[in-house]
Amino acid sequence: MNISITKTTAPKTKPQDESKLGFGNIFSDHMFLMDYEKGKGWFNARIVPFENLSLNPACAVFHYGPEVFEGLKAYRTAKGNIQLFRPIENVRRMNNSADRICLPQMDEKDMLKAIKTFVEVEKDWVPHAEGTSFYIRPFIIGVDETLGVHTIQKALFVIIGSPSGSYYPEGINPVKIMIETEDVRAVVGGTGYAKCGGNYAASTRAGHKAELQGYSQVLWLDGIERKYVEEVGAMNVMFKIDGTVVTPKLLGSVLPGITRKSCIELLKDQGVQVEERQISVDEVIKALEEGKLEEAWGTGTAAVVSPIGELSYKGEKYTINNFEIGETTQKLYDTLTGIQWGKIEDKKGWIEKI
Ligand SMILES: *Cc1c(COP(=O)(O)O)cnc(C)c1O
Repeated sequence: MNISITKTTAPKTKPQDESKLGFGNIFSDHMFLMDYEKGKGWFNARIVPFENLSLNPACAVFHYGPEVFEGLKAYRTAKGNIQLFRPIENVRRMNNSADRICLPQMDEKDMLKAIKTFVEVEKDWVPHAEGTSFYIRPFIIGVDETLGVHTIQKALFVIIGSPSGSYYPEGINPVKIMIETEDVRAVVGGTGYAKCGGNYAASTRAGHKAELQGYSQVLWLDGIERKYVEEVGAMNVMFKIDGTVVTPKLLGSVLPGITRKSCIELLKDQGVQVEERQISVDEVIKALEEGKLEEAWGTGTAAVVSPIGELSYKGEKYTINNFEIGETTQKLYDTLTGIQWGKIEDKKGWIEKI
């Protein structure tokens, strides 16, 4: 795959104060684009100045939602090098997501090359301050210009990037989570395991309701019995009960998080017992009442780990670990961020240098 590169003639000024970056509001100078047509495959890989896309209003993505995306970060080490964390996992997941909703897949090596070349071009946009990163958002949209409902014949692969601030500028803060008993995010057989925009559209209402009540996110239950725990907001969830870490098994409705997978590997390396299985909300509440729920946290690329300090279920409120970050959660955070920012040696082969 050849990538043509057209550099901007009007580079933007980069944010001076990296403590005010926030998340996903500022975009770098360029974007990666590639077209797909059935019969022809992927073609015209190019990096061009960042600008609005021009699309026919009849394009499928505006009506029926064929869209999949990924989210990963480029990290700047103390020495000034730039590196990615397990990017091949994002590439594979993007293809699995695309497969689920009949968007075209892409050669793994090509997609990885696209991501790495894009970061290389935008390397000066990777911020320097502690805890900051360059968030990379690859996505594929179906752009057939017809209102007819058919499998996609034309698609666009795009990568944009955004310098992002530290998720925890004031230190790690436990969050309050509401267990959602009405709306569901996904069901087995649906698109829960795919990283697609449609899942987010379906989950917005519950998230909004939780926010109005002072919670930062919802804990999703399974779509059939409202009995088993699935995820927390857009993060996977883990519970430490009586010394064992329990996390929902990937049965089709849960997104296979790369942070989740990495946490499981690290915990096992540390000799911690990990169980991937179904866990009911009743089991969680019982463990809370018996004082056996030692820690709970969400996992995801954005926050790495996010400790849960309070759970609310059917109007009852339960505090976890005195609303403090637990030992296991802290250790996972320190180890993962240590590897990502190059402070800890990567013995797992997870780091890909740019
Ligand atoms: C992206 C995502 C996650 C976390 O995945 P990571 O690979 O760890 O960032 C979890 N749940 C949902 C719904 C997601 O979209």
